[in-house]
Amino acid sequence: MSVVAPPEDGPAGTTVVGLVATDDRGVSLDVRRQGRTYLIGATRGGPIRFRYRLDFQHLVTDGSTSSGLDSQRLYAVTGSLFVAPDPTAYRKTARTYPEVVVEVLPPSGWRVVAGWQQANAAFHPRDGDDLLEGTLAAAPDFRMYSDSAGGAEWRLAIRGSRHFPDSVLASAIGASLSMAAGAFGPVPVRLVTYTAEVGHKGRMSGSLQGRSSVGLVWEPSETLERARLHDTFHETLHQWFGGAMTTERWWTEGATDYFAARLLTRWRQQPQDLAALCFESLRNYQRIDHRFRITMDEESRQHVAGDNTELLVYRKGMLAGLLLDAAIRDASGGRRSLDDVARSLLSLASTRRNRNVSEQEIGAAVAAAGGPAAQRVWARVVEGTAPLTERDISDALAVVTGQTFTPPAANAKVRKQLVR
Ligand SMILES: [Zn+2]
Repeated sequence: MSVVAPPEDGPAGTTVVGLVATDDRGVSLDVRRQGRTYLIGATRGGPIRFRYRLDFQHLVTDGSTSSGLDSQRLYAVTGSLFVAPDPTAYRKTARTYPEVVVEVLPPSGWRVVAGWQQANAAFHPRDGDDLLEGTLAAAPDFRMYSDSAGGAEWRLAIRGSRHFPDSVLASAIGASLSMAAGAFGPVPVRLVTYTAEVGHKGRMSGSLQGRSSVGLVWEPSETLERARLHDTFHETLHQWFGGAMTTERWWTEGATDYFAARLLTRWRQQPQDLAALCFESLRNYQRIDHRFRITMDEESRQHVAGDNTELLVYRKGMLAGLLLDAAIRDASGGRRSLDDVARSLLSLASTRRNRNVSEQEIGAAVAAAGGPAAQRVWARVVEGTAPLTERDISDALAVVTGQTFTPPAANAKVRKQLVR
């Protein structure tokens, strides 16, 4: 059996130290190293057990959203920390993931906050994807909170000095989970963890989701108002869109951004939040040069680079959510909305192992909920590249909120952010 060590130039710069292997009776097996590959000699069939230590070379995070490791801090979101065996390779080849036990041995005084049920016990992931979900935070200065909402437990590990009290973030997390559960059904996972870290001054704020693991890295000066609350709701919603259901990126990111804005608006009871976020999307969309040239799907397939202010899948995707929602509400006399479409897609996804829903199926669900009027919006916005105008947005906002909003000036400041 050969085992390949992760590349040392990866995000955390990991080195494998002291790899030992035994058979299932505990008899030591011969291990020979050739570069990054370890060859384990087995004399008979049956399971092979191995353990190793990972040393981390890059002590400070390379990206604002990946992982950070030094004597003061240890936190990781998604696959940054756990690197072997590679869950993606196993998923692609449909092999059964080997039994893995993860145990964190923190220095004294540190606490482990992990995306598994008993943070201080060994972790037995069910499969590779479960392993990738392990948010981890352990440092003496993290402040810990936990509660339940929407049928799931949540944990928050936060540190650093902020312009807002921890309780504001904690209540936003609880609200995002319970409001999303109210709209789309119970939280699809048992436990959601949030790690909130102060980022570097002058860098873009970032949020990252690994489905049930959410990392929020915000600049020191950030306040927890509309923009960052919207991010928090967006990340929470990835439990449903991106987690319980996967599909085209414009839905997973853009429609999710729209739902996040609408749920936030309902929570704060400030319809102007929805209008401000949608007009901000419009202004960013109007600066995307390729908006009349390619559709959102084509942008995805061509791997166009950019942050979320520069990509159609986010900015036009959010507006697509608004315009489809308004068309469905209008056509059904307010009896149906895009939420009905989302619920039917989630129900479809729940019957499938890969949880995938096709764009055709989204289109069919939109047509079923909103008829020809919604189909016309679909053809123009999702399948087409025709310009979206201020008037489109104002009219749709009027349908959804019952109020009239005036678009802000076209030179309004662009909000830079990194939400995944
Ligand atoms: Zn996202």
